[in-house]
Amino acid sequence: MKRMDRYKSNDASSRESRLDKNQELYHNVSSNVIITHLISANLLSEDNIKLAKIIARHNIPIMFGELENDKIAGTITDQNGGSVVVINSKEISNVTNEFLANRILHETIHALTTKALTNPQTKEERNLSRSSKTLYSMLDKIAPKNERADIHSGGYVMENEREFAAVFATDEYSRNYVYKLARKYDYVARKVK
Ligand SMILES: [Zn+2]
Repeated sequence: MKRMDRYKSNDASSRESRLDKNQELYHNVSSNVIITHLISANLLSEDNIKLAKIIARHNIPIMFGELENDKIAGTITDQNGGSVVVINSKEISNVTNEFLANRILHETIHALTTKALTNPQTKEERNLSRSSKTLYSMLDKIAPKNERADIHSGGYVMENEREFAAVFATDEYSRNYVYKLARKYDYVARKVK
């Protein structure tokens, strides 16, 4: 079993998911088993089901452990870009099954996109990395700084590039937020022409 301290925390790096020190991970389940179950148990929001069916084809290890700052779940990535999703076993009783289900999907997307974003190797990974970086840096110029920590407005999508890739895929408020920003960007671009 790999030890915590060999991983660096990924999801919203400093804020979201640091594991308690020196803790061992246990109970490794594959994400395709879990996500397939979440779909059939009807726990995912309607918008996320299509996406979940695609994500369910992939195999990311999901483990139970404890995360710092009462975080419910996080993605931990090693130096080679391999990721595991960790569910905080101490916190699962504090959230609804639906919340946990959508959060597991979100973290699995982090696990799948992190390698492509940080160390793209295949053509698909390079394409994803390039288009995500281009779009993020374009919107980064106009996205208000004070809304970036705000999960409810959808502004969290602009927190950083990794959240941009994962939140855009899993949260409809964030998609609306990005469309609004894109319209604002077009408006500003027309004005300066
Ligand atoms: Zn995240």
